[in-house]
Formats: sequence, structure tokens, C-alpha cells
Amino acid sequence: MGKCVICGGELTVVKDKPYDYPIGGLQVTLLGIPQHTCNVCGEEFTTIPNPEALHKMIGLDICKNKKGLLLPEEIVFLRKELSLNASGLARVLGVTPSTLSRWENGKKTIGEGNDRMLRMSYLSCFDEPCSKDKKCDKILSILSNLPQKRKAIKGKNIISINPQEWLVPTPVCC
Ligand SMILES: [Zn+2]
Repeated sequence: MGKCVICGGELTVVKDKPYDYPIGGLQVTLLGIPQHTCNVCGEEFTTIPNPEALHKMIGLDICKNKKGLLLPEEIVFLRKELSLNASGLARVLGVTPSTLSRWENGKKTIGEGNDRMLRMSYLSCFDEPCSKDKKCDKILSILSNLPQKRKAIKGKNIISINPQEWLVPTPVCC
């Protein structure tokens, strides 16, 4: 095992200790990450393997498991993982940059529709495709398992399907 970069002391490996991963105001706890503690100065060192994959997983966890409306720090995190600046995400969601800014600084809640749209945008970029013999209903089940907050939309729902879209053979995944 290596030496402490601060004092040169011996390091002790600590396993199975939950690690609080500091990231953008989110509360992320990692399990199974070896941590090293210096026997002399007490400094703790942790190496995060594959942070890119980790960030993707954090985003997926937010989109899939967060029941309430997205919080400011979650919106910022998802936006950054989508490699979008504020005006870029505002364009994706069809809102003004000042509206997005109010969501991100907590002066306004994101609202039901935009919450779902942002989750959809992230899931469509990062979620793994389902197996070929199973109907792809993952995103649907994620969205339908969110608590219902809006009233039913009144009026006729008009569905328009372009034959070129549904006559094309279904791709292997989704
Ligand atoms: Zn030390």
C-alpha cells in the first residue's frame, strides 16, 4: 500500500465504509469503495474508479427513483451531464433562460411537465436499451410511477402517425 502524500505515513485500507461522494450539493453515498486512512496524520484518501460511469449512474438514479419534483441541484447535475449550458437546456425544454435560472436557484419549482421532459431527455441519452424480446416500456413505467399531480387533460387527444415511421422494421433494441 502507498504512503500518505501529505506526511509520508503508512496508509491503512478501510473497506465497507460508506463514502460520501461530494458532488454539486447532491447527497451521494458510495458503497464498496476502498478508502485509505493515514496512520500518522489521519488524512483520508479515496480513488473513485470510472467517475464518468458513476455520474451517469447518479443521473439515472435521479431520473428513475426521485419521486418528488427535481430539486435545483438535481436539475443542474442533469444539465451538466447532458453537456448543456443553461441556454442550451432552456432551448431543449422550450423555456426562457431566466425560467431555467429560477429552477436552478430554487426560486421556482420546475413543474410537472418540465420535470418529466428533463427526465425523458436524460433517459433517452443514457439509459441502456432493453432486451430485444421485451417491449421497451422502461421510460413509460418510470414516468407512470411518478406521483400524479396534474389534473386530467380535457378534450380529444389527436394521434397522428406517419406510416413511414411504423412500417419501418423495429430495430433490435427498442
Ligand atoms: Zn498522513
